[in-house]
Amino acid sequence: MKYKISNFKVSPKDDKNLYSLIQNKYHLHDFKYKILQRSIDARNKDKVFLLYKLMVETKEKVSGIDVSIYKDESIKMEYPIWKFSDRPIIVGFGPSGMLAALYLARCKAKPIILERGSKIEERKKRVKEFLENKKLTPNSNVQFGEGGAGTFSDGKLTTNLKDPLIQFILNEFYIHGAKEDILYDAKPHIGTDYLEIIVKNIRLEIESLGGEFYFDTKFDKVKEEKDTAIVYAKGDKEYTFKTRHILLGIGHSAKDTIRYLYNELGLSMEQKSFSMGVRIEHKREKIDYAQYGKFAKYLPAAYYKLASHNSSGRGVYTFCMCPGGYVLASQSDLGTIVVNGMSNNDRLGENSNSAILVDVKPSDYDKGNVLDGIDYQEKYEKLAFELSKDYRAPANLVKEFLENEVAHSLRSINTTYPHGLFFTDLNKCLPDFVIDNIKFGIQEFDKKLHGFNDPDAILIGIESRSSSPVRIIRDLNRKSSNPYIYPMGEGAGYAGGITSAALDGLKTAMKIINGESL
Ligand SMILES: Cc1cc2nc3c(=O)[nH]c(=O)nc-3n(C[C@H](O)[C@H](O)[C@H](O)COP(=O)(O)OP(=O)(O)OC[C@H]3O[C@@H](n4cnc5c(N)ncnc54)[C@H](O)[C@@H]3O)c2cc1C
Repeated sequence: MKYKISNFKVSPKDDKNLYSLIQNKYHLHDFKYKILQRSIDARNKDKVFLLYKLMVETKEKVSGIDVSIYKDESIKMEYPIWKFSDRPIIVGFGPSGMLAALYLARCKAKPIILERGSKIEERKKRVKEFLENKKLTPNSNVQFGEGGAGTFSDGKLTTNLKDPLIQFILNEFYIHGAKEDILYDAKPHIGTDYLEIIVKNIRLEIESLGGEFYFDTKFDKVKEEKDTAIVYAKGDKEYTFKTRHILLGIGHSAKDTIRYLYNELGLSMEQKSFSMGVRIEHKREKIDYAQYGKFAKYLPAAYYKLASHNSSGRGVYTFCMCPGGYVLASQSDLGTIVVNGMSNNDRLGENSNSAILVDVKPSDYDKGNVLDGIDYQEKYEKLAFELSKDYRAPANLVKEFLENEVAHSLRSINTTYPHGLFFTDLNKCLPDFVIDNIKFGIQEFDKKLHGFNDPDAILIGIESRSSSPVRIIRDLNRKSSNPYIYPMGEGAGYAGGITSAALDGLKTAMKIINGESL
């Protein structure tokens, strides 16, 4: 018999003895168990505990208030055969493109994948070259290349969305190389060191099913011809492909492609809100202690998520927190600065970092053109570069920042940012309302997470690519205003993060095959 046990509380000190804890509590002799969910309850710092949902399989009787009969709720995927005569073209092999391509490959559609960046093995070399020698390759970097923008990341898989397909996506990441804990952790994360393995394994499965990859090959333009689209792509050679299905998962950094789609192809788009701000670096052990108190030494590096609104309703929030992580130079354009964060699976780096972001609304940047948000973003990324002119990132320490002064050097915290810092007034590279709200946010967040306003914490600018400033309009069939183009993922404005982008890609592919609203 299989039982479900909810609310199984374990002290972090005893977590390694889960089997014997279950055995003792339910007086069992012979059983197997599986973790269904694990979270950390740290509301009371004197009594932090791990909360488990478990499946226990045994011939013995299990009873208790939190025990019920286990029902398998995992979803069974179906792979209808691709019924069209053309092969689908997937532009971009980020999370949205990966899941769309994987699904379509299993449906025997033999997708063709165009990716402007390199294969992961080559891309890693390009990223290393930039992080070590400041030599940026515009088509293969932290934003572009096999695996997309989240490949060099913390690989957090949390999303606000509730959808049964999320379990399917997590399972695919697990099958292709992630650790098993992503299947049950309440805040699952993969880590850069595992992401690169997963990305490659997904590619290998797609290839084994007849999918075809063109790396270092950019989708350039599309023309309509007699009920078909002709896709033009440029790599070491020029290619043309005929298709009726273009799944466009280009991410939000493909500004050149978005400009082409709007200005030349005339795709319908609209402005949307996005965010701008900085990254903050604290000592990991201080954040861990603030979150878990004396239990910190038994638990993995602590995560936080904080948000507030000022009196006018503008939001300021922490984003993409990387426990035990590194601040990354994440630009794709020469002469710009864009920061973000990453961590390895063990999250054991000396610092923990997070973005502090402020809402930027169309009314802040609108000058009458749909793409104004992209220009606005680009303007500040260039200003950030112009301060040092050598990829050192504009920075300040929290104490001086709050006192409208500029620090001269680091104090008790070392930075993990690879290119060095340029201490400056951050007003020079961010709008005033962003600066004011970051100041407000730091004070507010300290009320919720003691030590957030550590005077030595480092603020590094600028974080400007957390989401897309435009949305490509699509109908209920997920088609854009062009009958052959299906925009998907973050660049199209329908996702924010790895899991939601993967879900959007998957649902777009399912929609094309099943032809019904999902
Ligand atoms: C450093 C960093 C850390 C992050 N950390 C996290 C995290 O921990 N958790 C999380 O949920 N999210 C994180 N994100 C965000 C996450 O990566 C994105 O939300 C997600 O990757 C979006 O997926 P996507 O498929 O929509 O687009 P992308 O991942 O951006 O992929 C788009 C792909 O399209 C390709 N492309 C673009 N234009 C063309 C063209 N014209 N022709 C061919 N190919 C093209 C690009 O090269 C790219 O590979 C992070 C992002 C960064 C940069």
